[in-house]
Amino acid sequence: MKELLNNIIESNRRYTKQGELAAYIPELTKANKDALGVCVTTLDGQEFCAGDCETKFTIQSISKVISLIIALMDNGKEKVFSKVGVEPTSEAFNSITNLETKNLHRPLNPMINAGAIAIVSLIEGENSECVFNKILDFTKKMTGNENLHIDENIYRSEKSTGDRNRSLAYFMKSTGVITKDIDEVLDAYFRQCSIEVTCRDISRIGAVLANDGVIPWNGEKLVPKEIARIVKAIMTTCGMYDESGEFAVNIGLPAKSGVGGGVMAAVPSKLGIGVVGPALDDKGNSSAGIKVLEDLSKKLNLSIF
Ligand code: GLU
Repeated sequence: MKELLNNIIESNRRYTKQGELAAYIPELTKANKDALGVCVTTLDGQEFCAGDCETKFTIQSISKVISLIIALMDNGKEKVFSKVGVEPTSEAFNSITNLETKNLHRPLNPMINAGAIAIVSLIEGENSECVFNKILDFTKKMTGNENLHIDENIYRSEKSTGDRNRSLAYFMKSTGVITKDIDEVLDAYFRQCSIEVTCRDISRIGAVLANDGVIPWNGEKLVPKEIARIVKAIMTTCGMYDESGEFAVNIGLPAKSGVGGGVMAAVPSKLGIGVVGPALDDKGNSSAGIKVLEDLSKKLNLSIF
């Protein structure tokens, strides 16, 4: 496995040149554009890493999976999906247009920014600090990494430039999707996106989901099986933004990407996979990371379809 991963990383490094760093959050431009790393976690707890697997990056949209799990555990699926839909989008991850024109103002799904912000507003907690601490604690459990913390510079950078997310949130408050204080909701959202991880961390998140919500390394039942199933279904149809269809055809796995360059995949009953490659394609997905997952899926016959 280790040799396979090394070969896949080296043969796909050239694709890092085809992407660009996310620049709309200024601090993200400090990432290493050439980095490419992968980690695979098996369901008996073994780990195999290759390439720049120690590269640190912010979890960004991959955190949307964690907050969705918590919102579902806090509220149940009827309430959550009365506020946020489960349909894929053909618009960009931070698009505002569908909020006005589709679904009676319900954001289309929890993996785009509008839906993710609405999901955070559903997490029970007195203020943004309580909500964020719940998200951080859950992420620590899913990664088995007690040392996780936020990258303060990226948090501040995102908070000071996050006017598109503010627009989405205020629009949703005007239509009744969000009922809480917008500054509090967004503060928790900006913090959750700024959690610093490695591809090992996100590969473990994938492994917990692949294992139906049971933590492979200690047997704890962390996520109810039904919620793990729902989340994997939404990752499959919506997890790679408006590139989810192409990803399903070429790779065929439940996955979630983030603009920090991470991609997390859950191979049901088999593996968790974490990839990092901060250079992004025009949809906001890791350009080389997608190629790594494609090779891995083909070589190990992982597609669920
Ligand atoms: N923090 C990012 C934002 O809200 C997350 C987007 C992403 O990773 O897709 O714009």
